[in-house]
Amino acid sequence: MTMTNILNYPDYNVSQVHESEYDYQVYAELKYPPSFCIHCYTPDLVGFGKRTEILMDIPMHGKRVGIHLNRKRFKCQSCNKTFYELVSRKDKKRRMTKRLIEYIERESQKRTFLSIADDIGVDEKTIRNIFQDYCEREEEQLKLEMPKWLGIDEIHIIKKPRCVLTNIEHQTVIDMLDNRNKSTLLRYFTKREDRERIEFVAMDMWRPYKDTVETMIPNATIVIDKFHVVKMANESLDRARKAIRSQLTHNSAVDY
Ligand SMILES: [Zn+2]
Repeated sequence: MTMTNILNYPDYNVSQVHESEYDYQVYAELKYPPSFCIHCYTPDLVGFGKRTEILMDIPMHGKRVGIHLNRKRFKCQSCNKTFYELVSRKDKKRRMTKRLIEYIERESQKRTFLSIADDIGVDEKTIRNIFQDYCEREEEQLKLEMPKWLGIDEIHIIKKPRCVLTNIEHQTVIDMLDNRNKSTLLRYFTKREDRERIEFVAMDMWRPYKDTVETMIPNATIVIDKFHVVKMANESLDRARKAIRSQLTHNSAVDY
């Protein structure tokens, strides 16, 4: 096994590997220096020192891995600015390799944060935050666009009415909210910047739905479900019938 192969990164040069009981310390630097200035894009660069950065990597042979990266600094002779070489394979946010982040995301679905933290050599909170980022990213991708025809309805799940948003044209569910309170609805629609796309909203007569749509999507036309209109018409017909019946009973009583 060559030194480079221990990381399996062809663009890294590995100079030393120290192995101890619990970990591997890998000393490396990037093979290819930048070919132009990151500020002005001219190629007149000279070396201008270096610093060591530690990148955590995926555990190897049951041991933690830390990469001691010798990161080079350059000075541009054209614009005089300096910069550190960009590190490929490093996560943008954390001192970890991208593949370690992916590893944590996968492992987090199978075992406890604490056991992962222990294997890698970081604290549990870091693992939790990485998993949180992962979930938010997934959620973002799952988010479905607001349709031209929005349906607002509810469904009873675990003994409570939950608001369900649908795309009427495609007959698909867009989202489900915890409840159907006005505050929940307002909070949801405030975050949905694509609500401007909505032109028609079909809903039942639940007041918070109407209030929310009138506040958040003022240009949309509200359509009260035909089903609900028919139901309401039947109810008023019933009321009228009862009123007439009671009047008849009253009149009959007088007659007797
Ligand atoms: Zn420059």
